[in-house]
Amino acid sequence: MLERSAPVFVAGHRGLVGSAILRRLEDEGFTDLRTVGRDQLDLRDQSAVDAWFDAERPRYVILVAGTVGGILANSTRPAEFLYDNLMIHGTVVHASHRVGVGKLLYLGSSCIYPRHAEQPITEEALLSGPLEPTNEGYALAKIVGIKLCETYRRQYGCDFISAMPTNLYGPGDNFDLEGGHVLPALMRRFHEAAQAGVDTVEVWGSGSPRREFLHVDDLADACLHLMDHYSDAGHVNVGTGVDGTVRELAEAIRDLVHPTATIEFDTSKPDGMPRKVLDVSKLEALGWMASIPLEEGLRTTYDWYVNALRKGDARL
Ligand code: GDP
Repeated sequence: MLERSAPVFVAGHRGLVGSAILRRLEDEGFTDLRTVGRDQLDLRDQSAVDAWFDAERPRYVILVAGTVGGILANSTRPAEFLYDNLMIHGTVVHASHRVGVGKLLYLGSSCIYPRHAEQPITEEALLSGPLEPTNEGYALAKIVGIKLCETYRRQYGCDFISAMPTNLYGPGDNFDLEGGHVLPALMRRFHEAAQAGVDTVEVWGSGSPRREFLHVDDLADACLHLMDHYSDAGHVNVGTGVDGTVRELAEAIRDLVHPTATIEFDTSKPDGMPRKVLDVSKLEALGWMASIPLEEGLRTTYDWYVNALRKGDARL
């Protein structure tokens, strides 16, 4: 169990995941949460990161910082996705080892698995085949992150663990139409069409790829569970174990946001991985299961989005 009064550094606290983790830690009674903005510390810069760790001396680290984005951002800016993430993971893991961090949780992504991995994807599928080309740069950096945790554990005895979440969504998501992921992008597109009285809404690709969606509050809960109860080299998948097609997702969002709209598929846009659903039996054996159903998560996320728009603070 983590000590609730010890200093915890959440690297990447402004993003979808980091902000959910901060909320969860606060609810859990953690009293010494440390964060630092991108403007104050460039996490790609080892000496700056070392200086920050020397000053702050966190006992625990949750590493969720990085350059992230959806299929288009990944396929058009692969160098940034590879370089930024590679550097950030390297500097934070190394600095954590240097100052003797007691436990570090690294969050990867389900895109680390081979394009043709057997579904549902087990942890053992890592490095068993070629990656999905649309997010290869990001996936490579994320694989290095896992290997950093494993090798620092093996060589230096660091208690560094890693978790691989599936596609995430929830309050604080990036609703950018070009750079964001499918769920917030479609929510925004249906919302704007409803506002403008437009009855056709575009969905990228064929609609047939299958994806699994985990609410970010569930992820944050799983992270705390792993920090408290897991101390091993192998990474752990985090998901619901349930998937559906992009078409089904689009229909669910349409029914919620703009029920009279017709969906049009733009097949000039990439489909990406044909299917991505995680085998979550390892996590279940560790005593954790997702609890927020997709319908409920869609509803609360849409409420959050509409509210944020009203207040003018949705990341657009
Ligand atoms: P991925 O899981 O890494 O492929 O990430 P995305 O969330 O970006 O895309 C998931 C799937 O949704 C892909 O098959 C996309 O082609 C499809 N999709 C449909 N409409 C959209 C959209 O408006 N934005 C994004 N990002 N993807 C979309």
